Amino acid sequence: MNEIDDKYKELGSERSFLGRPEQDERPCPDGLGRYRQFKLGSIHWHPATGAHETHGATRNKWAAMRFELSPLGYPTSDERGVTEAELTELSSDDPAAAAHSLNRCSEFQGGRIFCWSPDTQRYFTTVILSDGTRTDDEHGNHRSRTKRGMEIKCRKCGHSEKTTVEFIVKIIGGAMPLGGFWAWVTYLLAGTGLALPIVIAIITGGVGILVFKNEIVQWIVNRGYKCPKCGAVDWEA
Ligand SMILES: [Zn+2]
Repeated sequence: MNEIDDKYKELGSERSFLGRPEQDERPCPDGLGRYRQFKLGSIHWHPATGAHETHGATRNKWAAMRFELSPLGYPTSDERGVTEAELTELSSDDPAAAAHSLNRCSEFQGGRIFCWSPDTQRYFTTVILSDGTRTDDEHGNHRSRTKRGMEIKCRKCGHSEKTTVEFIVKIIGGAMPLGGFWAWVTYLLAGTGLALPIVIAIITGGVGILVFKNEIVQWIVNRGYKCPKCGAVDWEA
């Protein structure tokens, strides 16, 4: 028995909302945690967070963001109800009406995913990252793109760019690699000469990247990346 098994048992095993196991426990793509897939959800474990389940719309949202590789990282709670304070935070329309619908939340290392309804007519999945970035999807339709990567600004003309992985690949002048997370890591390590934690921060995006903003700006300047607007090589984060 381990923590994933314990969690499954705690939830009610095969009679739980997760249903039967679909596979054996296996390592997560980031190489740090482990997970097990069930018919209607999964349980993820990480040494820092323990084992927690995700299922339904919140899990679909997390999956669409590439699970633990997203800025959200690993779950730090099972799915739970939404507090009154959170409802007020979510719903500018009518928190009182929202209180009557089934509102759910899963907590993660880097934020929270909500599945909620302001009026029992419309349904949203809302991602709120630790830095306050909020993304709402109504009925699965994307309303605003999740803000990823760090912004750099040209000191000469003020033009700004996002340091997404696509942007870094553009500077290297290469093609986008096929394959999973580690294919990207290998590719960017070789192509950029940047250290492993910086490469991982660039790939996963989110707030982690800010830790390395000086190194990344220095790298962009050393590469001679010119401002597409004014031609200067004078960037700041
Ligand atoms: Zn410029």
